Amino acid sequence: MKGICVLGSTGSIGVSTLDVAGRHPDRYRVVALTANHNIDRLFEQCQRFRPPYAVMIDEPPAAELRRRLRDAGIETEVLSGVRALEAVCVLPEVDSVMAAIVGAAGLLPTLAAARAGKTVLLANKEALVMSGPLFMSAVRESGADLLPIDSEHNAIFQCMPANYHAGRTAPEVRRILLTASGGPFLRKGLGELHDVTPAEAVAHPNWVMGRKISVDSATMMNKGLELIEACLLFNAPPELVQVVIHPQSVIHSMVDYVDGTVLAQMGNPDMRIPIAHAMAWPERFDSGAEPLDLFAVKRLDFEAPDFQRFPCLQRAYDAVRAGGTMPAILNAANELAVASFLDGGIRFTDIPDVISHCMMSVPVGRADSIETVLEADRSARETAGAYIRKL
Ligand code: NAD
Ligand code: MG
Repeated sequence: MKGICVLGSTGSIGVSTLDVAGRHPDRYRVVALTANHNIDRLFEQCQRFRPPYAVMIDEPPAAELRRRLRDAGIETEVLSGVRALEAVCVLPEVDSVMAAIVGAAGLLPTLAAARAGKTVLLANKEALVMSGPLFMSAVRESGADLLPIDSEHNAIFQCMPANYHAGRTAPEVRRILLTASGGPFLRKGLGELHDVTPAEAVAHPNWVMGRKISVDSATMMNKGLELIEACLLFNAPPELVQVVIHPQSVIHSMVDYVDGTVLAQMGNPDMRIPIAHAMAWPERFDSGAEPLDLFAVKRLDFEAPDFQRFPCLQRAYDAVRAGGTMPAILNAANELAVASFLDGGIRFTDIPDVISHCMMSVPVGRADSIETVLEADRSARETAGAYIRKL
C-alpha cells in the first residue's frame, strides 16, 4: 500500500488522479489533498477519500472547509498557507506526490518532494522548466523516482530502453519525436488570430484540460514548455528533440533508435492512461480509459510545425539554448500573458510579444540556486506586467 499526496487535487489532473486512485484502494491510500480556492470540490474529495490532511492556500476557505468537515463528522486536518503544501509532501506516510498544481506556484512543494526522495509524478511542467538542472540534481541526490505524467513525456518514457530512469542519457536514442496536436488554431487564417477569444482558445480539439494549459496549447507554448521538459527529463540537447504535428493525438510521442527502430506509444487522449502508468510503475493496472478503436481513428497524419504561426515555440527553443534563468523568464512571462489574455486584458497575438520583450529585457543569470530562479521569475513578472499595462 502506497500513500499519495495530490497537489492540485481539484484540477483536471488532480480529479483524474483520484479517479485512478479510487479504482485501486488496495494499492493507494490518499494521505493529503490540496487546492487553491475550490472548497466544494475539496470537501467532496475529503468525503470520499478521508485523507488525514487537506490544504487550502488561504485561511478563510480553509476555515470554511474545516467547519464543513467537522459538521459531516470527517476527521481530516485542514492546514493553510503555501508552506503547508511542502509540509504535506514530505510526511513520512507519503510515498508518492502527484505534482498537479498549475504554474510556478507548484515549484517549491514539488522540489520539496524531490529532495525528500518521494516518488514524484510530474504533471506540473512549469516547475521543471523554471528550475531545470536544479530540480534534476535534487532528484539525483535524493534517489527519488521521477515519473512523467505529461502524456508526451510519459509516452517517451515508456518507449525508452528497459530500466530507464529520468535524467539519464540513452546513447542508443537518435531522436525524440515529440508530438503535438497543433491545438484549435492549426488551420485558422493567420490574419484572424488576433481576434480570437479566450473561449475559442480554450476549446481544445482532443483534450479537456485546465484553462492555462489550454491557452498554451493554442499558442503552442505548451509544446515549447514540453520541449524544455523533454531536454531535462531525458538529458537530451534540443537538437535531439523534433516537434511533429499529429492532429489526431493518438500517438503520444516516439523514440527513434540508432538502428532505425521507431517506438511509439498510442492510446486514447485520456490523461488517466499516463497517470495509471506512473502510479502502477513498474507494473500496470486499469486506468478506466476506453480501449483504443483503430477503426474509428482510421488514419494518422503528421506535419512539420509552422514557426511563423506559432512564435512561442521558437521562443522556447531560444530559451532552452540560452539556458540559465532564461526558461524561468520565458515561463513567468507566459504565465502573466496568458492570465491577462484570459481576463480580456490583451490579445491572443500579444502573448508572444510579451514573452519576447521579457526575454530581451530581463537580465539572464546562472540558475544556480532556487533563490536566483525565484528572482528571475519575480523580475520577469514585473517586466511583463509593466509591458502589458502599456499595450
Ligand atoms: P487546473 O487549472 O485544472 O488545476 C490546477 C490545480 O492547481 C487546481 O487544483 C488548483 O486549485 C491548484 N492551484 C492553482 N493555482 C494554485 C496556487 N497558486 N497555489 C496552490 N494551488 C494552486 O490545471 P490542470 O490542467 O490540471 O494542470 C495542472 C498541471 O498539469 C499543469 O502544470 C499542466 O501543464 C499539467 N498538465 C495538465 C494536463 C491536462 O490534461 N490537464 C496534461 C499535461 C500536463
Ligand atoms: Mg502534454
